[in-house]
Amino acid sequence: AKEDGRNGIEFFADGMAAPTSERLSLEHALRRALERGELALHYQPVVSAVDGQLIAAEALLRWTHPELGNIPPDRFIPLAEESGLILPIGNWVLDTLCQQLAAWQAEGRHMVPVAANISPLQFRRADFVASVAEALRRHDVPPGLLTLELTESMVMRDVERAARQLDELKALGLSVAIDDFGTGYSSLAYLKRFALDKLKVDQSFVREINTGPEDRAIVAAIVGLGHNLGLELVAEGVETGEMVNTLRELGCDSLQGWHYGKAEPAAQFADRLGRA
Ligand code: C2E
Ligand code: CA
Ligand code: CA
Ligand code: CA
Repeated sequence: AKEDGRNGIEFFADGMAAPTSERLSLEHALRRALERGELALHYQPVVSAVDGQLIAAEALLRWTHPELGNIPPDRFIPLAEESGLILPIGNWVLDTLCQQLAAWQAEGRHMVPVAANISPLQFRRADFVASVAEALRRHDVPPGLLTLELTESMVMRDVERAARQLDELKALGLSVAIDDFGTGYSSLAYLKRFALDKLKVDQSFVREINTGPEDRAIVAAIVGLGHNLGLELVAEGVETGEMVNTLRELGCDSLQGWHYGKAEPAAQFADRLGRA
C-alpha cells in the first residue's frame, strides 16, 4: 500500500466509501488478531549487488486468519491505518523484530541489519523515537541492526519535524531508508536536509527496466542522485537475472526480490544467517 498524503489517512474521511460489512468484520478480526497471535513477521533477504551475499533483510507482516487464511498486507494495512490499529500493530512489529534479533544474536548467528516498515501514523507520534529506543533497549539489541523504512510523503508532510526526528533516530545509531522511492510527489531538494542512509527504488521502475528505455533512465537518475548524496541504493522487486544485470550496470548497491528469495518465516530465514 502506498502511504501518499493524498490518499493516506489524514484525507481519508473526504473520499471514504460507506464502510461495508466485510470491511468492518475484517477490522474487528484484525483487532483481535494481535491478541490471538495471528500476526507474524517474515523476512526477505537483501543481497549485495556485487557478490550476491546476504547483507540485510526486510521484515514483512503476515496475518493468518483462522477461517480466511492468509490475508495480504495490502488488504489489512490500509484498514489498520484507517482504524488506528496500526499503532499497536506497529509497536508489536518493532518489539517482535527486536526480540527476534536478540534471539538470533544469542544463538551466535551471523547478523545482518533488518528493516521494519513504519506507517505514517506511527512516525507522526510525538513518542515515536522514544518507542523505537525503548524496543531496542528492552531486548538489548545493538541499534546498528535496525533499519526503519519510511516513505517520501511521511517526511514531506512536515519537513522541519521530520528532519528533527531523523536526526534523533540517527543519534540512536540506527539506519533509515526511504521506501518506494520515486513514487512520491516530493521535490528532490529535501533529500539533502534529511539524515538518511538508503533509498529503495520502487518496484514499479524495476519491473519495466528491461522493456523500455524510460524506466532504465529513471533508475539511472535515482542511483546517480542517491550516490551523490552518499546514500546506499537498494532495488526491490528483482525477479530475473536480466534485471540483476541491468541493476548492477546502473550501479545499484543491493538487490531484493524473488530472484533471491521471498519473505520467509523466521526459522527458515535463520538458515541463511549461518553462525558467526
Ligand atoms: P513494501 O514495503 O514495498 O514491501 C515490498 C513488497 O514487495 C512486499 O509485499 C514483498 O513481499 C513484495 N516483493 C518482494 N520481492 C518481490 C518481487 O520480486 N516481485 C514482486 N512482485 N513483489 C515482491 P508484501 O509483503 O505483500 O507487503 C506489501 C506492503 O505492505 C509493503 O510494501 C508495506 O508497504 C506494507 N507492509 C508490510 N509489512 C508491514 C509492516 O510491518 N508495517 C507496515 N506499516 N507496513 C507493512
Ligand atoms: Ca510500501
Ligand atoms: Ca518496505
Ligand atoms: Ca517498497
